[in-house]
Amino acid sequence: MTYDDVLIVGSGVAALQLAALLNDNVNVRILTKSKVRNANSYLAQGGIAAAIGKQDHPSKHFMDTLKAGRFHNNVESVRKIVNEAPALIGEIFSKGSVFDKDSNGEMLLGMEGAHSEKRIVHSGGDATGKNLVEYLISQLKENVILEEDVFAFELIVKESRCIGVKTKKPNGEIHVFYGNNIVLATGGCGQLYTYTSNAETVTGDGIVMAYLAGAEVADMEFNQFHPTLLYIDGETKGLVSEAVRGEGGILVTEDGTPIMEGVHPLKDLAPRHVVSQKIYEYVSKGKRIYLDIDSIPNFTARFPTITEICEENGVDLSKGRIPVVPGSHFLMGGIKTDLIGCTTVDGLFAIGEASCTGLHGANRLASNSLLEGLYQGKKLSEWLNQARMKPLAVEPIKIPNEISMKQAKLSEKSILQHKMMEHVGIVRNKELLERQKNWLAQFKVNEITELDVYSIADLERIFMVIVAELITVSALKRTESRGGHYRSDFPKEDDRNWLHQTITHIHKGDEEKSHEQIQTIFTA
Ligand SMILES: Cc1cc2nc3c(=O)[nH]c(=O)nc-3n(C[C@H](O)[C@H](O)[C@H](O)COP(=O)(O)OP(=O)(O)OC[C@H]3O[C@@H](n4cnc5c(N)ncnc54)[C@H](O)[C@@H]3O)c2cc1C
Repeated sequence: MTYDDVLIVGSGVAALQLAALLNDNVNVRILTKSKVRNANSYLAQGGIAAAIGKQDHPSKHFMDTLKAGRFHNNVESVRKIVNEAPALIGEIFSKGSVFDKDSNGEMLLGMEGAHSEKRIVHSGGDATGKNLVEYLISQLKENVILEEDVFAFELIVKESRCIGVKTKKPNGEIHVFYGNNIVLATGGCGQLYTYTSNAETVTGDGIVMAYLAGAEVADMEFNQFHPTLLYIDGETKGLVSEAVRGEGGILVTEDGTPIMEGVHPLKDLAPRHVVSQKIYEYVSKGKRIYLDIDSIPNFTARFPTITEICEENGVDLSKGRIPVVPGSHFLMGGIKTDLIGCTTVDGLFAIGEASCTGLHGANRLASNSLLEGLYQGKKLSEWLNQARMKPLAVEPIKIPNEISMKQAKLSEKSILQHKMMEHVGIVRNKELLERQKNWLAQFKVNEITELDVYSIADLERIFMVIVAELITVSALKRTESRGGHYRSDFPKEDDRNWLHQTITHIHKGDEEKSHEQIQTIFTA
């Protein structure tokens, strides 16, 4: 039997920060479904937000976060995280030479959409995620075991406490890992949509595992669509960071007309949902939109990663234009947690994008998510370092030697992604959402009781259908538009009725696990 003090699922920034900061005497195991670097964290470009500029103050960062989140945020989460941001950056700055500096050795600060000050700390120009992840990996000590290609698919809950996780290897082998504290750091669910900036591993698995284990899931209708993904031959090929617009990039039509004039006072640097919706308006009428980068000096030096992605895909940067389209980028909702990562299930924690602390509200302010991962990883490590880890008396589950495999009767992944883009994407309404709900119902995922019998590919598709249901049901409930959730039939914010979270969970303890029993309750 494998038993650890802390069992972490996922290997992004939140997981690695936690693992690196746990004391040497704490046994830690990281399980990740692909290779350690195959995560959204590694792809992050723009940087990390922290009020460290001379003109800046955490109170300004606080206000910008609330405005972008359309005041749906948990104010306490915002206050604590933005206040601690300068110290979190300072700790990494003092230990490693991760962040870009000017000739005086001061950190260079970039500008991004909806920030009122230059406060984006970056690394290698636009390789912040890569360099941060490499730094965190270098900080892991001998108490941390890292296992790659291990797909977690079911949480083991005994007497209302989470005590472990069932996993599958690519060869179909099932292994159960037990632990004192189980931490989901599995990221969001960006892969649910055709157009996405997300790594292929980010399919909402952890959110579904927590949901099926009885944890509360919050605000799933709040999905951020990034305005500028590189768009080539009908496909998205990666992200063109907001920092490009921060440095002067302008969104234009084929004939060079700027599209953000008169739309928002911040024009091209308006909050992401405003910019995405505007681009979508053009794209849905068959028009092409470009990011005009003519005014940016030394583009290739400032944005080496974007330059590489463009060159790989045949974009001639000397023409000063990058073709773009909006696509799924970030999930503001997730497993409901407090700031440490405690979920509503004992022994189960969630950190990073998989969790919903309320920091982001209805829409994430750019570069606040790496910050959240660093914050939660640190806070949970401090809490666990002080906790008494008395091993639990665990009776191991028996896994049969021979399992007769089944094939899940689901649609192709690409069809699901397309349907989500069309019906639960940038512009939603009751008719589209109902259509999606009915389409998803045909797969009867609520009737699946035994997960062991499916391949990893099937398990991932089952999870994607369940996340799609969670998003669709929440989006139907929220009869207003706010942040990343835009409904053409309810185009305005409705503060009177809707300044609260949508919470979805299965009532555990009921005889049957059924999606009919999903209860959506509202908390103030
Ligand atoms: C292209 C891009 C650019 C971005 N740029 C920025 C930026 O500049 N600044 C910023 O703040 N944010 C940025 N973001 C968002 C940010 O990168 C993410 O929100 C953040 O990295 C999420 O980190 P995480 O630790 O929650 O998990 P992730 O980095 O998403 O990692 C999730 C991990 O869980 C693993 N996993 C998933 N399911 C399972 C399973 N069933 N079993 C085992 N392992 C599993 C995955 O393999 C992966 O290792 C960007 C995102 C993208 C996609």
